[in-house]
Amino acid sequence: MSKTLPEYALNRRRFLMTLLAGSAALAVGDLALPRVARAAASGPFTLPPLPYPDDALSPAISAQTIGFHYGKHHQGYVNKLNELVAGTPLADQPLEAVIKATVGQSAQTAIFNNAAQVWNHTFYWRSLRPKGGGKPDGALAELITQSFGDYDQFKAEFAKIAASQFGSGWAWLVKEGDKLTVTKTGNADTPIAHGQQPLLTIDVWEHAYYLDYQNRRADYVAAVLDRLINWDFAARNLSAAGG
Ligand code: MN
Repeated sequence: MSKTLPEYALNRRRFLMTLLAGSAALAVGDLALPRVARAAASGPFTLPPLPYPDDALSPAISAQTIGFHYGKHHQGYVNKLNELVAGTPLADQPLEAVIKATVGQSAQTAIFNNAAQVWNHTFYWRSLRPKGGGKPDGALAELITQSFGDYDQFKAEFAKIAASQFGSGWAWLVKEGDKLTVTKTGNADTPIAHGQQPLLTIDVWEHAYYLDYQNRRADYVAAVLDRLINWDFAARNLSAAGG
């Protein structure tokens, strides 16, 4: 696994630059960003930069899919969230706090759905990388063996859970106690609302794969696992979760 973590460092720098200089600072860290058009921020929540150009995951995920998925869907959740929290105390809260404050609150379902979708998509883009896939190593590989038997068993279980989510939702690798497990959530739901610590996710909403794979969700999931999964990101999340 790479120890240089350029993607993480860049994201963190861009994030800090944006914090320091306000929404007008986007251009500073924007040089390597995709060609997807982004509207200026108009609220407390902003669309985080994509960690790679919009054509970097092709052919497993096309630039056209990224254009709609990141530029329209993800941006749309950010915009809607900003509309919904405008003038409320939630507008001053971190995204994770908004998610935890609104989960299970029937009057705040729309805020939860949009906040969780903003968070889930940011986590999804970081779960992928160009020339990803393959097998993890180090502590993460050991924990996968302990939790699933071996890597191939993990892969089969992850693919199965992704295929079996009925309708829109997400497949996750999460840390639960001292083991890893795979789980799925429907629609916008997210493990961070339920005390789980996610390491990786695959978006299985149709908008994630329909342009490239039509109804063949299993082919999309297999391509992500074989060619795009970012094991460095998962290892960092495992480390942050206490190893
Ligand atoms: Mn999506």
